[in-house]
Amino acid sequence: MSQHIRIPVCIIGAGPGGAATALFLAKVGIESIIVDKASFPRDKICGDALSGKVVEVLNRYDPKLVEGLDSGKAFLPSWGVVFVAPNQESLSVPFRKDYASRNGKETAPGFIARRMDFDYFMVEEVKKRKEVKLLENTAITGFEKTPEGYRLRAAGSDLIIDTQLVIACDGAHSRFAKEEGGIQVEKDHYCAGLRVYYENVKGMHEGNFIELHFLKELLPGYFWIFPLPNGGANVGLGMRSDYVSKHKINLKEQLTTILEEYPAFRERFKDARQVDEIRGYGLPLGSKKRPISGDHFMLVGDAASLIDPFTGEGIGNAVMSGMLAAQQAAVCLQQNDFTATTMQAYDTAVYRRLWPELRLSYRMQQLVNYPWLFNFVVRKANRNKVLRETISVMFEDIDLRDRLRKPSFYFKLLFSN
Ligand SMILES: Cc1cc2nc3c(=O)[nH]c(=O)nc-3n(C[C@H](O)[C@H](O)[C@H](O)COP(=O)(O)OP(=O)(O)OC[C@H]3O[C@@H](n4cnc5c(N)ncnc54)[C@H](O)[C@@H]3O)c2cc1C
Repeated sequence: MSQHIRIPVCIIGAGPGGAATALFLAKVGIESIIVDKASFPRDKICGDALSGKVVEVLNRYDPKLVEGLDSGKAFLPSWGVVFVAPNQESLSVPFRKDYASRNGKETAPGFIARRMDFDYFMVEEVKKRKEVKLLENTAITGFEKTPEGYRLRAAGSDLIIDTQLVIACDGAHSRFAKEEGGIQVEKDHYCAGLRVYYENVKGMHEGNFIELHFLKELLPGYFWIFPLPNGGANVGLGMRSDYVSKHKINLKEQLTTILEEYPAFRERFKDARQVDEIRGYGLPLGSKKRPISGDHFMLVGDAASLIDPFTGEGIGNAVMSGMLAAQQAAVCLQQNDFTATTMQAYDTAVYRRLWPELRLSYRMQQLVNYPWLFNFVVRKANRNKVLRETISVMFEDIDLRDRLRKPSFYFKLLFSN
C-alpha cells in the first residue's frame, strides 16, 4: 500500500544543515519531515573540525547542546591552529588571545569530532522533537512541481510526500540543487578532498590545535592533520578541482607520497596505524554568489555551495544557513507565500551573514598562490608578538581579518620589526 504524507515543510538530508533546519523549525512550533537516504549513525568524508560558528548556532538553538559537546567523550576541544608555510616554517595561532591564561573551565572555541558522532548527536536531538518526523533509509529521487508546492517520491518505494516547501540539505551531490536549483559544478569554485583516519600520530599540539600544511605541491590547497578523541587523527588534503584536472593530479598518490617523502611526516607517522582507507568527496565552494532559492524551495549548506574557499569549513555555514532557512520558512508559512520573490529574502539573509567572510577567504585562497608571501608572513609573525596576537584576534573579528587582503597590510609588515 502506498504511503502518502502531506506536510508543510520537507527537508531532504539530515546532515548538519538538515538537522539544524529541523531543530530551528521545531523551536517555533513548525512541523516538518526530514528524510535521509542513510541510517544514522553514518560516516561522512570530512576533516571533522567544528568551528566557532557551529558553537554559535547551537548556542542560539539551546546552550545545553553546547554543554553536550563540551562534556561528550566524542568531542575534542580545540584551541587553535598551526599554519605551516611552504618553506616548512610553522606558526601556532590560538583562536583566542587569552589562550595562555585559560583556566580549564571555559568552553573551547572549537571542537573536533568524527562526523559519525557529530551528525548522530544532531540527529538524536532531532528525534527528541515531536514536531519532526525523521525518515531514514529513504532516498528522494523524484521532484514534481504541483500547484501547492512539490510532490516528492522516494527510490524503490511507494512513498509520496506533498509539501508546500522543500528545503534541500542533501549535500555536495544534491540532486535537487542541480535539477531544480540549476546549480552546476564549476571546477574553479569546487575542491576535491581526501580523508583517512590514523591512530598514534606523534607530535600533536597540547591544545589540540588543528594543523594546516600549505605544501608547495598542493597550493592553493593544503594538507591537514587534525587530532581526534582517543589518540586518533584525521589526515587529509584538499585541492581546487581545476588544478587537479589541469595538472592531472592523482590525489591519493599525492597523499601517500607526502607522508613518505617529507622527513617531518615520516618521523611523526613512523609508529602510526592507518585505520581506514583513503576516501574522497567534493567540496562546493562559496567563492561565487548563486541563487539559492526559488518557487517553493530553499537550498542549505553544501547543496547551496557555501563551503569556505580558504579553510574548507562547511559545517558552520550549513548550520547557519539551516537556521536562516527555518526563519524564512516561518515567514512563508505565516504569509502563505512561497513565491521565488518572497523566498529571495533567504538569499539576502545568507549572503548578508556569510558573504563578507566568503569573499575574503576567496582572496586569501588566491594569495596563498604566492608561496613567498606566505613564508614572509609566517616568518614575521614568529618574530613579532603583536602581529601574532593580531592574527589570533582575526579569528573572532572579520573586519580585522579583512586587513589581510589589503596590500597596505603587507607593506606595513615589510617595515615592522
Ligand atoms: C574531505 C573534506 C574535508 C572537510 N573538512 C571539513 C572540516 O574540517 N570542517 C568543516 O566545517 N567542514 C569540512 N568539510 C565540509 C563539510 O563536510 C560539509 O560542508 C558539510 O558536511 C555540509 O553539511 P550538509 O548538511 O550541507 O551536507 P552533508 O553533511 O553532506 O549531509 C547531506 C545529507 O543528505 C543525505 N542525502 C543526500 N542525497 C539524498 C537524497 N537524495 N535523499 C535523501 N537524503 C539524501 C545524505 O545521506 C547526508 O546525510 C569537508 C569536506 C570534505 C569533502
